[in-house]
Amino acid sequence: MTAYALYLHIPFCRRRCSYCDFNTYTTLGDLQADYVAALAREIELVGARGGRPPVHTLFFGGGTPSLLTLPQVAALLAAARAAFAVDAAAEITMEANPGTVDETYLAGVRALGVNRLSFGVQSALPGELALLGREHDFAAAVAAVDAARAAGFDNLNLDLIYGLPGQTVADWQRTLDAVLPIGVEHISLYCLTIEPGTPLQRALHHGTINAPDPDTAADQYEIACTALAAAGFDHYEISNWARPGRECRHNVVYWRNEPYLGLGAGAHGSAGGYRYQVVRQPRTYIRRMDGDPQPLTADARDSSPVTRHSSLATPFPLSPAVAAHHRVDDDEAMSDTAITQLRLLSEGLDLDGFALRFGRPFDEVYGDTVRQLVGWDLLRRRDGRLLLTDKGRFLSNQVFYRFV
Ligand code: SF4
Repeated sequence: MTAYALYLHIPFCRRRCSYCDFNTYTTLGDLQADYVAALAREIELVGARGGRPPVHTLFFGGGTPSLLTLPQVAALLAAARAAFAVDAAAEITMEANPGTVDETYLAGVRALGVNRLSFGVQSALPGELALLGREHDFAAAVAAVDAARAAGFDNLNLDLIYGLPGQTVADWQRTLDAVLPIGVEHISLYCLTIEPGTPLQRALHHGTINAPDPDTAADQYEIACTALAAAGFDHYEISNWARPGRECRHNVVYWRNEPYLGLGAGAHGSAGGYRYQVVRQPRTYIRRMDGDPQPLTADARDSSPVTRHSSLATPFPLSPAVAAHHRVDDDEAMSDTAITQLRLLSEGLDLDGFALRFGRPFDEVYGDTVRQLVGWDLLRRRDGRLLLTDKGRFLSNQVFYRFV
């Protein structure tokens, strides 16, 4: 039976960060109990319709999942374990914001089975944290890591953002110098994108901030690569570094383009040869899960062959909260697989796996493109795999574009 990565979306935050366009809300806290009950129902329904399939990773994402109370975390994990065969060694991650957690809370979620935490730290500099609208300071981030260690966590990620308006290479180096001695197992780096409709975009429009400089961001990425390698991290994905064996198993599922189930408002999933998105608004989500007990679509129950993708061979029943879905054809699946697997820098694209999954050798589909990119020293072959070169990782978007 297909094993899944399970993502649970928690769409609540105490305050909106200036760059954030995620599906999260700061004024719907009074809905949290109803939302958790609806999410537990969705878990129960999807697991039952799928025949209690195996789950090997579980991820509480948001939003700020650490705003859940301990009984709410317990209820969601109990629902997941009842509805799915959650592996005893499953990686169970919770995203958390510094300032929302203390040792007592973290010991509680650890006792419930959460075994990995991902903290949104973003910067060590007060001015940058203020620009980003973060509600914590760097001392709170350090305190959160200390509390997590005291609570028994040995697998921690920190998120950082570079490419900020006005951020110099020296500023970024100060953040790296402050963060690396903390000694976590995993670091994720995001280059800021100024999204439409965000306070940062309005500030840019009104001229109160300058647009970030892409050349500075490229230099910042390069010094981060050097600093993280010197600190003993493997650069295993374009934006992610881990101590050996501490890669994020949940996210690796996305990058291998393997099946995952996203539940909760606005979550995405890819299963049974379909991609789908759950309705975004929490109130609508709760109403949907309170209402129609019937399976969503005839299309999703379609018993016709769902292509020959071996890992996507089971049509998966969707919940009543799914707002949109489409069947993934071979062209889309092959392109997605090429792009996502090439993001995995140390693993790369598995050429035999590709041929097995799609019934066509990779070079038959993309031979001309690969020859060109190898000729430009952007891709290389190694042991039956195709990988980005050092040059290719800096120009990865140019490489990926050619597989679309
Ligand atoms: S904590 Fe995360 S999800 Fe919440 S507003 Fe900030 S960036 Fe968005």
